[in-house]
Amino acid sequence: MKAIGYFYEDTESPEFVLSNQRESFISYCAQHDHQAVTEFVDRKIDDTNRSGYNLLLKYLQESGSEFLLLVSGTEILSNDLESSIDRILELDSFGAKVICTTGDVPDPFQYALKRWTNVNPKGTRGQQIKEAMMAKAMRGEGLGKPPFGYKIGSDGRLELNENEHGAVKHIFQMYTKENMGMRRIVSKLNQMGVTTRSGRGWSIVTIRDILRNRSYIGTYNRFGIVTPRNHTPIIEPETFRMAQEILGRFSTPRTQLSNEPFMLSGVIYCAYCNNNMIGVNRQQGWRRKDSSRVTGTYRYYQCQSRVNKGMCNYHTWRSDVLEETIKDQIKELLIKGEVNIKVMATGLSSLPDSNIQTEHPDPAFIKTLESVAAGFISLSYMRDAVSSIKKTRENTGHTSSEHNLLANAINSGNLSNVINSWHTLDSNTLISLFKGLIEKVTVSDDSIDIKLKHF
Ligand SMILES: [Zn+2]
Repeated sequence: MKAIGYFYEDTESPEFVLSNQRESFISYCAQHDHQAVTEFVDRKIDDTNRSGYNLLLKYLQESGSEFLLLVSGTEILSNDLESSIDRILELDSFGAKVICTTGDVPDPFQYALKRWTNVNPKGTRGQQIKEAMMAKAMRGEGLGKPPFGYKIGSDGRLELNENEHGAVKHIFQMYTKENMGMRRIVSKLNQMGVTTRSGRGWSIVTIRDILRNRSYIGTYNRFGIVTPRNHTPIIEPETFRMAQEILGRFSTPRTQLSNEPFMLSGVIYCAYCNNNMIGVNRQQGWRRKDSSRVTGTYRYYQCQSRVNKGMCNYHTWRSDVLEETIKDQIKELLIKGEVNIKVMATGLSSLPDSNIQTEHPDPAFIKTLESVAAGFISLSYMRDAVSSIKKTRENTGHTSSEHNLLANAINSGNLSNVINSWHTLDSNTLISLFKGLIEKVTVSDDSIDIKLKHF
């Protein structure tokens, strides 16, 4: 595969010696039969703006093809955990998979975890998940589901699934050649009686996952290791590239998405697999029959274990419905006096302050990183999770007059003002309330179980 080297030189630090990085790049390419095509360099002494990195992004964008981006370690990308993860995700969105060439951890997420948290991913959650998957395999349950269109052959590799691969071809055909949007593809497939593997109808989410899945061009990506031409492709690379281009046209920059925080981030769990549910923003665009364009934003909470690993099914809750329901139930508890105000005060004082640069990595961030490092969630969900964590952090740091309302209520021990203005409480205040009171909310498709904090 074509490989690009990215180096960062800091002459004052032995970790950032340029010649060592270049040597590591060359020998990694030789060892793994990758073709070294070019390199980009930033030097601490020159500037702090990383102009080399920006040139690299430009290069990736203009070439439009896929590369491996080799770095000696993730510290080359940035000097702190979160911004180096941001860059890994950014590079991925430009078609470059980051690989670390020194040490025994090529996966950048596992590498970053190990470096910045002293957590050895092989000994933690990643290992537990892998063990759970192996136990499943021994019971004859299979190691996760292969992508729609494939089955797992006797040698453990993906083989075409005769009943499904035609539908995959058809989906790409409709999207790239027949100018059909995802909404129309969904209704067409449902009309034709083509079902998903679970037997349920198609949705925009399942169609989008298919259009984005690189397995269909024969690339296999698991635990961060990319193996091109691993199995029989279903889709021509050119068609796949076109699909990505159209998908890109409809997606809008993240900053334009709703800035409302997800109020239940960090306290909400899936009843089926006990993993976190994360807030997801989706901007959707489609054409009306008169060819005018319509867009809308959809917000929901989704189980992190989903994706195509077969660890959990597709469980979602619309965010407004879930938040309203929880809000109602909390109000009931407040009115009944079942909530200890002192507990709430303890919860509030432990709220993170966004103005303080956290010295220790954010636990919510680490947890998500562990999931992606274990191959448990996909990069696009990592992206959603990261932005949702950041938004929650930004929003909980600020105080508002309503926040003071809450503080006053706690100090006076009288909650009636809070209860009276219940329907006009802003989201920051609600986030504080929820974080202060709720230990955990477990949701299934048709039940919600709130567990309050006890002291
Ligand atoms: Zn789940």
